[in-house]
Amino acid sequence: MAEQDALDVATRRTSRLAALAEQLGADKLDALLEHPQSDQLFAAIAGMDERALGRLLQPREAGRREPPPIEGDFLHLFDDLPEEVRAVRDRVREFMEARVAPIADEYWERAEFPHHLIPEFAPLGLIEAIYPDGDTHHAVMEGIITQEMARVDPSMATFLGVHAGLAYGSIFLCGSAEQKAEWLPRMRSWETIGAFGLTEPDVGSGVSGGLATTARRDGDAWVLDGQKKWIGNSTFGHVIVVWARDVEDGQVKGYLVRPDAPGVSVEKMEGKIAQRTLQNGLVTLDGVRVAERDRLQRADSFRDVGRVLAMTRVGVAWIAVGCALGAYEKALAYAQEREQFGKTLGSFQLIQMMLVQMLGDLVSMQGVALRVSQLQDAGTMREEHASLAKMFCSAKCRRVVALARELMGGNGILLEHGVARHFADAEAIYSYEGSNEINALIIGRALTGVGAFV
Ligand SMILES: Cc1cc2nc3c(=O)[nH]c(=O)nc-3n(C[C@H](O)[C@H](O)[C@H](O)COP(=O)(O)OP(=O)(O)OC[C@H]3O[C@@H](n4cnc5c(N)ncnc54)[C@H](O)[C@@H]3O)c2cc1C
Repeated sequence: MAEQDALDVATRRTSRLAALAEQLGADKLDALLEHPQSDQLFAAIAGMDERALGRLLQPREAGRREPPPIEGDFLHLFDDLPEEVRAVRDRVREFMEARVAPIADEYWERAEFPHHLIPEFAPLGLIEAIYPDGDTHHAVMEGIITQEMARVDPSMATFLGVHAGLAYGSIFLCGSAEQKAEWLPRMRSWETIGAFGLTEPDVGSGVSGGLATTARRDGDAWVLDGQKKWIGNSTFGHVIVVWARDVEDGQVKGYLVRPDAPGVSVEKMEGKIAQRTLQNGLVTLDGVRVAERDRLQRADSFRDVGRVLAMTRVGVAWIAVGCALGAYEKALAYAQEREQFGKTLGSFQLIQMMLVQMLGDLVSMQGVALRVSQLQDAGTMREEHASLAKMFCSAKCRRVVALARELMGGNGILLEHGVARHFADAEAIYSYEGSNEINALIIGRALTGVGAFV
């Protein structure tokens, strides 16, 4: 009886081995048997216990499954947005993927702006969506558009932020009805590109008290002298909103300066390691005459600059959100494809932890930015809300892009893998429009009632 059982087991084993050999195919079986290390391979498998065998087989099973789709809106925060916002979002995503993504690295590396794309912005109706009428600014719409642009190209989102946020917003908030009628339609159609000149070579964070560019009244004109540094779009834009101090009353006022006016010279800033596609200029104003009718009629002091910055600062938070979103999506896709030790990166616990940390940061950024934009639309946003959004999102963005870069190993520093550009660009986002420290001081002042700037 025992002999018969042993015979049955041996017969079953032989037919099972034959079936496996057939499944493997003759060529592969020969290659395996003739491999110089086949003895060691079989010995290693023979030495495995049940758990080790299970571990060997499990990832192979998992690896065969289709990875789940990449979901950038993990908490479905944007599902409840009005249909018109989601429609614009889809339009921008399509445009950015089709027209910008294929050329973004090349222009970034050459530190050039893709001017041929500017006419293509007009049909997207972006500025019309953000400012649906002469008195309304739609912050949530602006945020979603900005997120979509920065997801693919943070430089392009900053270009939009300077033109449609800082420059358009200055005229929108501080211009007279006549000035709005003269400038805004041409800026909406992208025929006139705007720049915003506040920062100077010797003063950035401390610009409210230290701004040194002067404006001297001379008859029905003003004479401007000074220098502005970092001015985005100034190398090719058509109007620069220059903030200068009136020598008479010491107050900061806004002037619409045409870059081709006598006395204006603009030098492109070279050697940037972040947002290289964005064109920053050093603007020199040497006795530049600006007509009184080109002085922003509803800006009387630095408080008005603050109104513009509060409106646009949330937009920078959204640039950070988009930059992090783009890097997270690329890193997750990479983790699903790249294999090491015979398994996808995404199947390692430590890599999954990186992805989850990125996702946690991303959804918290999306939540903060969306909430502050909603407060802005409701008219209840305070300056410290905007600062919190900018500070929080730009700091988290830095962490997300660093993790994404790390996850990709060496490939993380190569432009072609889609994270290196975002990694570098996050550094600019972290510092411009109120550095981390300056926004912390604004929030700290609101919390304690004590200004700690000096
Ligand atoms: C890519 C890019 C685009 C830009 N575009 C424009 C533009 O279009 N128009 C424009 O006007 N400007 C623009 N800027 C300028 C930008 O807004 C300034 O870089 C920013 O305000 C910081 O000023 P700063 O670089 O002179 O740094 P600084 O003011 O010199 O600060 C240096 C460091 O000191 C810290 N610091 C300063 N004061 C304090 C304090 N009281 N307590 C603690 N820490 C402090 C800062 O946080 C920072 O870390 C741009 C900058 C960049 C990088």
